[in-house]
Amino acid sequence: MVNTDPVRDWQIATVTSVHVETPRVKLFRLELPANTRFRAGQYFDVRLTAPDGYQAQRSYSVSSSPSDPSMIELAIELISDGEMSAYFHEFVELGDQIELRGPIGGHFTLSQNFIQPLLLIAGGTGLAPVISMLRQRQSVETTAPTVLMFSTRTEADILFREELMQLSEQDTNFHLVITLTRSASGEIPMETYFENRRIDRPMIDSAINLLGNVPARAYICGGSGFVETIGNHLLDIGMRHDDVRTERFGP
Ligand SMILES: Cc1cc2nc3c(=O)[nH]c(=O)nc-3n(C[C@H](O)[C@H](O)[C@H](O)COP(=O)(O)OP(=O)(O)OC[C@H]3O[C@@H](n4cnc5c(N)ncnc54)[C@H](O)[C@@H]3O)c2cc1C
Repeated sequence: MVNTDPVRDWQIATVTSVHVETPRVKLFRLELPANTRFRAGQYFDVRLTAPDGYQAQRSYSVSSSPSDPSMIELAIELISDGEMSAYFHEFVELGDQIELRGPIGGHFTLSQNFIQPLLLIAGGTGLAPVISMLRQRQSVETTAPTVLMFSTRTEADILFREELMQLSEQDTNFHLVITLTRSASGEIPMETYFENRRIDRPMIDSAINLLGNVPARAYICGGSGFVETIGNHLLDIGMRHDDVRTERFGP
């Protein structure tokens, strides 16, 4: 019998659900061929092969909790002219078989025993690995304060909206700050909610106030510019380089 290594060797996973989460993002649940332990924040490489042999490969973060090693959930945004994301949005359906390998990534991960105050900052689908971290923290029931700052375009683009709202209502140690880069309809009743604004230094200062102190660690995930700007703010307020963990998804 040949032993396979899920990180190095391509595996076949089966699509067990497809859910339209927002107008631009679909959630795909994939059953793994064998239980595969992963850490919150890790990603998998996905590979498509056309009938003529042409192959495309992209990375996608796991949004599901590491507490279930039998499956992973991926949150894939449809990118204009995007090769892989368009394929997933247009063609992938229940029962399809998808080639992947992983989990991959070590620096942008949250270990299960990390239960200190945490600042999570996500832009768009950068929320995928971050919600995996939140889901893990919920399952270990830590009381350490956690702030999630989430930036997205409009109300319709708020990923995992019900789950986040519910968590912020139920868990007094969890603070949700949503900022829309465009204007809001006023539909969402929320304490810490901004419109026509991007995450800036005053917003970060107010997150630090919510935490009570500079956090033990921050995780930032999103586009390159987003990650860079916010990472610099966090270094400016005195966080150590190694405590500011970043993952960049694209331009
Ligand atoms: C570690 C890691 C984890 C990732 N996790 C996720 C995830 O959870 N969900 C997710 O949706 N994506 C994620 N991505 C991005 C993903 O790998 C692809 O880059 C993305 O889906 C676009 O691929 P595509 O083939 O559709 O577009 P391509 O055909 O590669 O690109 C088409 C055009 O879109 C631009 N572009 C590429 N990526 C982006 C982007 N992210 N935003 C805006 N423009 C872009 C390109 O510059 C190009 O002009 C992750 C990337 C990395 C490196």
